[in-house]
Amino acid sequence: MKNNFEEKLIELAKKIDIEIEEHDAVLYGLYKKEIEKWSKKVNLTSIREDEEFIVKHIIDSLMLLKKIEIPFGARIIDVGTGAGFPGIPIKILRKDINVYLMDSNKKKADFLENAIKNLGLKETYVLYGRAENFGKNPEYRESFDFAVARAVSALNVILELCLPFVRIGGFFVALKGKEPEKEIEQARGAVEILGGKIKDVIYYELPGEIQRSMVIVEKMRKTPEKYPRREGIPEKKPLS
Ligand code: SAM
Repeated sequence: MKNNFEEKLIELAKKIDIEIEEHDAVLYGLYKKEIEKWSKKVNLTSIREDEEFIVKHIIDSLMLLKKIEIPFGARIIDVGTGAGFPGIPIKILRKDINVYLMDSNKKKADFLENAIKNLGLKETYVLYGRAENFGKNPEYRESFDFAVARAVSALNVILELCLPFVRIGGFFVALKGKEPEKEIEQARGAVEILGGKIKDVIYYELPGEIQRSMVIVEKMRKTPEKYPRREGIPEKKPLS
């Protein structure tokens, strides 16, 4: 029998036309429990209430699957994933994809290792460290079909951290708030320098009339080798 959390999740996901099966709803419930358990040790999210957690964390992450076609077996990196958003909710529904969860916070990386083990998620990897350093590593550079990021930094900063990971022809997707226009304007120079092109901006609504957006950047050319610059510089001196 489904519990309250699972029922609510299935019902709210239906509102955006996403079918969640019972066994996956159980996994999302387990994921929330893991977050609660670790919250005494590490600040993962301030959202506790079931419905708010479902809408703002799970459904918001799953919107990526609604709005973007992710091919079977795709390789995806979630930069600055924190407690695993959007990477873990996506992985639970799309077991075929390879997900790399990157974060520079050690306690969060430990939480992620533990969560993927307890949820039994395969082909899910934790990369503990800074994007500025992983982005220079040939094992990861220009090797992903998609890079995604939510709530990490302004677009002109996060582009320098994410676009180096994306292969030519792949995409970087930034999950943003209601009004991304100003950030997009400020990021036009960075997109060009890093070898990308803004392909689309998608506006969407979460249950409860919460407005969000997605900025989609296509990788057109190789990113010049000097990017990303060293730790902290993308944030201190954003490309313009
Ligand atoms: N994406 C998650 C979400 O939407 O809930 C977490 C957002 S949290 C506000 C930002 C995360 O980015 C933090 O966990 C932080 O440790 C990580 N972060 C910030 N700068 C980073 C960098 N340069 N490389 C890797 N992780 C970074």
